[in-house]
Amino acid sequence: MTPKFEMNTSPADASPPGSPAPPRTETTAGNYFVSNYPPFAAWRTDAVPDFESTLHQPPRPGVPLGLYTHIPFCRKRCHFCYFRVYTDKNADDIRTYIDAVLSELAMYAARPAIAGRRPRFLYFGGGTPSYLSPDQLGVLSEGMKRLMPWDDAEEITFEGEPGTLTDHKLRAIRAMGVTRLSLGIEHFDDHILEINGRAHRSKEILRAYSYAREIGFPQVNIDLIAGMVEETEDKWREAVARAVELRPDSVTIYQMEVPYNTTIYQRMKAEGRLAAPVADWETKRRWVHHAYSEFEKVGYTVTSTTTVVKDPGRVKFQYRAGLFSGADLLSVGVASFGHLSGVHYQNLHDFQPHIDAVRAGRLPVYRALRPSHEELYTREFMLQLKLGSVSASAFASKFGTDPRVQFATPLETLRQWGFLMEHGDTLGLTRDGLLQVDRLLMEFFDPKYRSGRYA
Ligand code: SF4
Repeated sequence: MTPKFEMNTSPADASPPGSPAPPRTETTAGNYFVSNYPPFAAWRTDAVPDFESTLHQPPRPGVPLGLYTHIPFCRKRCHFCYFRVYTDKNADDIRTYIDAVLSELAMYAARPAIAGRRPRFLYFGGGTPSYLSPDQLGVLSEGMKRLMPWDDAEEITFEGEPGTLTDHKLRAIRAMGVTRLSLGIEHFDDHILEINGRAHRSKEILRAYSYAREIGFPQVNIDLIAGMVEETEDKWREAVARAVELRPDSVTIYQMEVPYNTTIYQRMKAEGRLAAPVADWETKRRWVHHAYSEFEKVGYTVTSTTTVVKDPGRVKFQYRAGLFSGADLLSVGVASFGHLSGVHYQNLHDFQPHIDAVRAGRLPVYRALRPSHEELYTREFMLQLKLGSVSASAFASKFGTDPRVQFATPLETLRQWGFLMEHGDTLGLTRDGLLQVDRLLMEFFDPKYRSGRYA
């Protein structure tokens, strides 16, 4: 799994301000999560030269740097997966890819916007980073460290698929310096895992988790998905109970969405169905609420729309914090996207074009966008609202306008719908609002992005 960056640009999600909160019942096809702004559809190939010229300027003072590395290989493709992944690559292909990623990073490391900077946080996502062998991981990480030392990074996250994690490999991952291991568990029920196309089974989850604990990763996160195909009330409750028993440092719970480029959608299309064969949104929200309540009973804290944390004083998620507050994010690898010196960019989508561009000495960037000041404000405010609350004065001092003025209309809409809570300087969401925040964020979109018309 990778961090969620995709955009919800479906006009069907928008509603006029002041109207009743639109009902969102059955799960239909399309992206649901909002994790960036403006939406990808507004990013353009003709903005790439602007992005590249920005790299020849020094960095913005005081802005931290993160480094995201995309590993696009998986053992098999999950039926709900919409990421750029490859299940047919051999060891030579993987070595070619690692060399390309290192060459790509070398190009960035030579640009004034990046030269001499050290990343504060790193993220290895995919795909399945743990698909790589210990030797391949060694070549990748040693090569990266030579170009951009990360000894003083505050957090290094690595995504792992339980069935790929032997004791030996987990030790190699820890030796890279990884501080936060994120396990793509998704569910504990073998039938649910199988019917949804997952490669691993429950036995492998328990084995990988106990190795990870034994080795002593400072943070272990587990991912769950509420509402996979054939999920039931009882099976979900059982999955939550088993997750609670493990006592991970944090748990990330997604509500199942069915984007167009998934196997599930292909089946829906073939059968002429509009509703996906998964639980409706109200049920998924109820299931996530149940999970949060169970974790809260044993002392966890809800820290965002998707996360509960055992000890928020100790366990941070620097990657998300950086991303949500406008940090630079240098992203390398096929189809990855980042944000440098105030410009969004995304890499070429496919394996060979990515390799060919890098071999030709070109950055493999496909499209880019320089957001306006107002768009950056909207982006940051929306993303931080996903954490549950924001400080109005902090935004006013960073962006020059109080969000209660800047976003008066959408905030009034949320207030009328009963999702907004205000305490002094803090604008927060009710639990119900937090559980459906991605849907509510559409209210903050510029109308031209809501309607899907991008001039
Ligand atoms: S593990 Fe499954 S969901 Fe995750 S990237 Fe691979 S195919 Fe996609």
